[in-house]
Amino acid sequence: MSLFGRRNDRYRSQVKLFITILMLVMVMTLATISFAVFFKPDGTTSLSNIISSEDKATDNSYTTSETPITEDTNSDSTQTTVTVPTKVPTAASAAVAAKRKASSENSNPSTSDASYEQALASLPAGLLEKVKIAIDPGHGGMDPGSLHGNLLEKDLNLAVALQLGNMLEDMGINVIYTRKTDIFPSLKKRAQIVEDSGADFFLCIHHNATDDGPVWEGTETHYQIGGSPAGVMDDKKFGRYIQEEVVNALGFTDLGLVHSPNMVVLKMTSMPAVIAELGYITSDRDRAVLTAPGYAKKAAIALKKGIIRAIAAKFVHS
Ligand SMILES: [Zn+2]
Repeated sequence: MSLFGRRNDRYRSQVKLFITILMLVMVMTLATISFAVFFKPDGTTSLSNIISSEDKATDNSYTTSETPITEDTNSDSTQTTVTVPTKVPTAASAAVAAKRKASSENSNPSTSDASYEQALASLPAGLLEKVKIAIDPGHGGMDPGSLHGNLLEKDLNLAVALQLGNMLEDMGINVIYTRKTDIFPSLKKRAQIVEDSGADFFLCIHHNATDDGPVWEGTETHYQIGGSPAGVMDDKKFGRYIQEEVVNALGFTDLGLVHSPNMVVLKMTSMPAVIAELGYITSDRDRAVLTAPGYAKKAAIALKKGIIRAIAAKFVHS
């Protein structure tokens, strides 16, 4: 064998060794990835689940802005289908905690605001008979709103609204409903009913949902107009009373007041108006409260207290 041939043989064996080492490295890498994908400690066994859970964790940052999470924006058709993942991303938990902390700082009414009992006692005889409150139970008919199994938002909204309306009427207040049965008036129609009624306050009742998983929970109140001078009632001041009473009565996490300039029912009405998102249908914790016996009555009492405090603030203390 020539010198060249021996060199060629040595070259071949070096290439073989290199290829063998390369293959070994590739096999080990593949084995490591497979282990991570198929034997994740929380029981997740597909790569797509892992990717989506990471996406969920980062996507949650959008809710820390003033972008509303709710389904009602500019559209008249507000059907939401919710899928409920079984995993709880830890980064999302941190985001909820941060939002909770930040929002609770802006939702506390000033200490000069009267409590419900003080507000009620301050009302002159005959005032409530002159007050008109408009109530909008969100969704209805073909639009279930948020849902979880056979728990439909439209039914919860209506149950709370009817209880609230009865309580207010028992106190002598005039109540206007956008719906009292399982029908779907358009958002424009609802706003028109309320605007035509000349109501003093307008309360939309909703329940929240997200497809980001069961970690999202709590109460938030959406308003359009805030920052009016002292003594002038606006959406945000009205919203503070509603938010505080609901959080106190039902123990939901306080997600605070959310500025939502694009909600049709808020844009098209002129009186102080808010959308109360009472709790998350997709949250295990909130759902336990929402499905407990007497929930609608409890929620209605909280909303009634918020409304009476707002009435006193507008007509008596201003
Ligand atoms: Zn809704």
